[in-house]
This record gives sequence, structure tokens and C-alpha cells, in this order.
Amino acid sequence: MSTTLPSLATSLATDPVAIAKLAEEVIAGAELTAAQARELLDVEAGSAAQAALFAGARKIRSHFLGPKVKCCSILNVKAGNCSENCSYCAQASGQASTDYQKHKWLPDEDIVIATDSAKANGAAALGLVAAWWGVKEGSQLDMVCEAVEKFSQNGKVRADVNLGILENQNCADRLKQAGAAVYGHNLETARSFFDNICTTHSFEERLQTINYIKKSGMGLCSGGIIGMGETKEQRVEFAEQLRFIEPNMIPINFLNPIKGTKLGDRPPVDPDEALTTLAMLRYFLPDRNIMAAGGKEITLGDRLHEVFAVGANAVMVGNYLTTMGTAPEYWQEAANRWGLRLNSQVEEIEPAPTDKKGCGTNDCGCA
Ligand code: SF4
Repeated sequence: MSTTLPSLATSLATDPVAIAKLAEEVIAGAELTAAQARELLDVEAGSAAQAALFAGARKIRSHFLGPKVKCCSILNVKAGNCSENCSYCAQASGQASTDYQKHKWLPDEDIVIATDSAKANGAAALGLVAAWWGVKEGSQLDMVCEAVEKFSQNGKVRADVNLGILENQNCADRLKQAGAAVYGHNLETARSFFDNICTTHSFEERLQTINYIKKSGMGLCSGGIIGMGETKEQRVEFAEQLRFIEPNMIPINFLNPIKGTKLGDRPPVDPDEALTTLAMLRYFLPDRNIMAAGGKEITLGDRLHEVFAVGANAVMVGNYLTTMGTAPEYWQEAANRWGLRLNSQVEEIEPAPTDKKGCGTNDCGCA
């Protein structure tokens, strides 16, 4: 059983000894408080406190998750002309970006080619991602389930999907029956910031879909994007909400400001800030799979390999939805450098727990 740590008189952000002790306490089963997480986000770049934070994150990862790195890939199975208005996304309604190929749902042959390519890149799973509102009952659900069934029977990689909002429980159940192992559906950001990045659907609708996913028995992949203008307090709030929904995998993206999108003029997150945020998440969610996902290249540059220095135990390999990724050889070398090893074996996924509803925020009124 976990206990809550007492708050400390001095700020953790300047105290490497206290941070090292905190890591030991997390390993022993203590749960980081929101206040402690917020203090960790203030460690100075290059300080002894930051070094202690990163070292502690590696110890926590090693204790709970061992040396294996999970690798996943994604395929834009239906690209562009999305009805939604997510402000970071090149595929959003009305966005001017044309630097990618728009297309309707891909034929089965293209999914097979992408599966082979994901396998060759060392991925254990491939997620089919569609740019649309989501999945409704009727001919659309039938078409998607038929494609997912063939995709899952291929068996070379785990068959995951990321198909947006689900209209009802039956949509989730049908996808599970068709062979979808994990459903990707990000919280995107803290509940208190969500309306700043999307107004065509709500945070509550996303939570409702997460409830359907969990109840269906599919695994849940859910994280979000750092650097869209949220405060550090909101990053901690986001972490609390992730802790509450308990995803099997937590992809952490960093904003890649794409020209033509509403956030296209924002600067990328500072590398130290990005790495510190990942490290904080490792303390806050010690036994969860945390994936360094989209935007890591533009954010971290030649420090990309340091995602393994701060506690990440998963990476997205191959290309992203509308931007290029990093060669698989790089990840092999980066893993070796930090004493880890890439794992491209398909693993069984434990269904996410179903006994909790909403996002864990008191009085927010969500489902
Ligand atoms: S993030 Fe997904 S739902 Fe939002 S605009 Fe892009 S493709 Fe559409």
C-alpha cells in the first residue's frame, strides 16, 4: 500500500540530497504529492539537483521496469481534413499545412506494408491513427472492424488503434473483438487547459471514451503534449489525471510547432525543461510505461538520447503522423549508452483497471 510523503520545509528544487532520498522513498512505495512534483519542475539546468533528479529517475525506472525499452510505431491510416480543431495539429480543420499526403482510409495492402516496416524498425506494436472525430456505429464501424481484423491476424506486431472518440461502448467492444489490443486516446493536457487547445470536442468526451476502452478490456495508451502554453502547475495537474486513469502506456509528446497551425509560432520547449518534465513524470508515475513520443527530435536535438537518462522506458520509432522520426539505429545506440536494450517482442497487455471513473479532479463533474 502506498503512503503520502510529508512535505519538506525547503524546496526540493535546490536540494540534491533530498531528491535522492525522495527517489528511494518512491522505490519503497511512497506516492509523490502534487506539491513535490511542482518543486521538482524548478530544478536548474546543469545543477546538482537536476543531476540527482535524473539519476533518481533512472533508479526508479530500473526498479519498476527493468532494462527493456518498448518500441511502438504509428501509421496515419486516414490523413487530413479532420473535423476537429486541435490547435497543435497539421490535420485539423482549416489548417493551412500541406506538407503531408492527405488520404482516405488506406487499403489493407498499405497496412501490411506499414506493418512490415514497423517490424523492420524494431517496433513491437503499430497503431492505426485516423484523423477524424471518431468512430460511430454503422457502416464506418463495420469498415474499421474489418480492417482491424485483417491487421490483427497479420500477427507480426501488436495491433493497436487510435481512432478518436468512440460513440458508445459497443464501438469499443467491437474493436476489441476485431483484435485491437490497445486503444490510444490521449488526455492531451490538463483538464483545466484543454479548452485552450480544442473546442470541437471536450475533455469529458475524451474521458468517456477512456471509460469505454477500459470496460472493453483493451489496453489504454494515453498521454499528451508538453509545451502548448500550459503552466507548470497544469503539467502537474496533467500528471495527477494520468495517475488517476492508469494507462498501460503514457506517450509524452513535445509540441512540434508546425507552420500553419494555431500553435505554429510557439517556440519548442527548452531541452532541460522537457527532460525535467519527463523525469518528474517518472517519479510521479513510477511503474507506468512512459514513452518519449512526437516532437522529441525538434525539442532535444543532439540530446535526444537523454530521454533514457530521465526515466523513459519506451520510444516511438519510425515516422510520426505528418513529420519524420529518427532512424532505428539511433535508438539502438542510445539504449546501449544508458544500459538498456530495445525490446521488439510483442507483449501481452493487462487490461486497464475499470473501477474508477472521470479524471480524479474533485468536483469537476466529468464522467
Ligand atoms: S489531433 Fe486528431 S482529432 Fe485533433 S485535429 Fe488532429 S487529427 Fe483531428
